[in-house]
Amino acid sequence: MPDSLESQPQFPRPEDCICEGRQDHPIIDTRNSYSFWGWLGVLTGISIRPRKVTYWCTRCNIAIGESQDQKALNRYL
Ligand SMILES: [Zn+2]
Repeated sequence: MPDSLESQPQFPRPEDCICEGRQDHPIIDTRNSYSFWGWLGVLTGISIRPRKVTYWCTRCNIAIGESQDQKALNRYL
C-alpha cells in the first residue's frame, strides 16, 4: 500500500542543468494541457484554463514537473 493516495508522478531532477529543476527559471517553458473542450476553446480564441501545466526544460528537453493547482493554472489562461 502506498503511503499517500496522491499519485503525483516523480520527475527527474536535472542536477547538471542550469535550471536546477526550478519551475520559475527563465529557460523553463510551460506546456498547457487541455481537455477536448478546452482545445476547442483555444482554437476559437476563448481563454480556457488548462487542465494541467507541464514545466519543460528547454535545455534538457525534459519535463521537470507539472501542476494542476488551480491558482497556478489561472496564470496560464
Ligand atoms: Zn534543464
